[in-house]
Amino acid sequence: MQQYLAALDQGTTSSRAIIFSARGEIIASHAVEFQQHYPHPGWVEHDPEDILNSQLTALKEAVHLSGIDPGEIAAIGITNQRETTLLWDRRTGKCVGNAIVWQCRRTSRIVEQLIADGHGDMIREKTGLIPDAYFSGTKLKWMLDYYNLHERAEKGELCFGTVDSYLCWNLLTGRPHVTDATNAGRTMLFNLKTQEWDEELLQLLDIPRACLPEVVDSSGLIGYLDPSVLGRPIPVTGMAGDQHASLFGQTCWQVGDVKNTYGTGCFMLMNTGDRPVVSENGLLTTMAWRIGGKPTYALEGSVFMGGATIQWLRDELKMISKASESEGLAESVNGTGGVYLVPAMTGLGAPWWDMYSRGTLVGMTRGTGRAHIVRAALEAIAYQSDDLMQAMIRDSGRKPERLQVDGGASANGFLMQFQADISNVPVVRPRVMETTALGAALLAGLGCGMYAGREELASMWQKDLEFTPAMDEATRRLNLRGWHRAVERSLRWAEA
Ligand code: ADP
Repeated sequence: MQQYLAALDQGTTSSRAIIFSARGEIIASHAVEFQQHYPHPGWVEHDPEDILNSQLTALKEAVHLSGIDPGEIAAIGITNQRETTLLWDRRTGKCVGNAIVWQCRRTSRIVEQLIADGHGDMIREKTGLIPDAYFSGTKLKWMLDYYNLHERAEKGELCFGTVDSYLCWNLLTGRPHVTDATNAGRTMLFNLKTQEWDEELLQLLDIPRACLPEVVDSSGLIGYLDPSVLGRPIPVTGMAGDQHASLFGQTCWQVGDVKNTYGTGCFMLMNTGDRPVVSENGLLTTMAWRIGGKPTYALEGSVFMGGATIQWLRDELKMISKASESEGLAESVNGTGGVYLVPAMTGLGAPWWDMYSRGTLVGMTRGTGRAHIVRAALEAIAYQSDDLMQAMIRDSGRKPERLQVDGGASANGFLMQFQADISNVPVVRPRVMETTALGAALLAGLGCGMYAGREELASMWQKDLEFTPAMDEATRRLNLRGWHRAVERSLRWAEA
């Protein structure tokens, strides 16, 4: 009986593997951390061997811990850190250099030039992305330029890929050179509407089509795990970037469904159905997933300092000794006493987009204490998330019925209740918080025919807790007004 699904979750700091039962319960999991490389200020790299070896170890160990026979795994789903860029030799499989990680800023100048040359609107229109060094396109261009590889790429001797591609190439029989549509959508080279690599964008960045992978659906047969790994050719039938997998794993399948992941940063996505909504509020347009050749779209926004705000209180201000302590402290006072913290340490993203705003603490009086500031920090995570959600509501014209949450900081009950209050929407936390891995497993389960349809899958998502809005309208408005006045104070602070 093949009654299990395996998810490979290749993240920025660790590779994980989780074995799920057909009912979506976690049977076993294993994570392997790997080294980050910072060769210059603002640069971030991964050793491709580390990515591969950590992922292989995680998978083998998870299977071992589960006690199941690999033959009982019906299918594997892959999810990955997005935008991280690799380039390797088609014959030997050897990478030309380290992977350039999504966080790496080395191509900022290339992006500034694209914008200065007036290509910003065209890029936004075609890709749904706001031109930025995050996305893979300029990273690939940098590699081709730096290693002087244009000619070889032109001849088809090289393969570009994001981490999903790289894993498929190395782990699947026959070395398929593929990427799923959600990952392709983060390259700044893929046209959201035509669902093809875009000739104009390729020319603009001088990228030969011959080095690009074939774009496949997020669910469906991609290939078979090489039997050298687990002794069996297990089908790989699901693949999506991490935030997309998490949206799927939260069962946000209806238009208007929203999830927010509270990690180091926060990532919010709203399903907008078969319509790519162009944002007027600084959000990205992206694919939620592509199934049966049909893309479902989403709006995406992120908060740079989410859980990181709490890390900052702990590590820099030494106001708390561990993140979870923030909850009790926040609840020890019945408000912030008018204090607001705007954690714009690295600027503000959507809907403000101000790279020059900086961290700001306002409204202090003689009575202000540690608990007020800790509470203001947690509230700030919720306020920033609310700003994203309101932007999504304005762009899509839909108010979500609930907000589905996950990520490390969603363990904080005070934060979740405050989010429900300030956004005036029920906040729902699932039992399985590993929604990214669950999403990859569900895409795989759907892709291998383990489930009859989505209805059957939906029962695999189970609610743990629901936080019901309890703040009166007047207080809510007053709080939001205070927050927005505080944001005003933080804008344009750093001098260019
Ligand atoms: P990532 O995947 O980005 O590494 P995680 O989902 O593991 O992040 O979440 C870790 C983040 O959540 C950290 O920034 C940490 O400060 C924050 N965090 C963890 N537990 C709590 C808590 N109980 N209250 C508030 N923040 C928390």
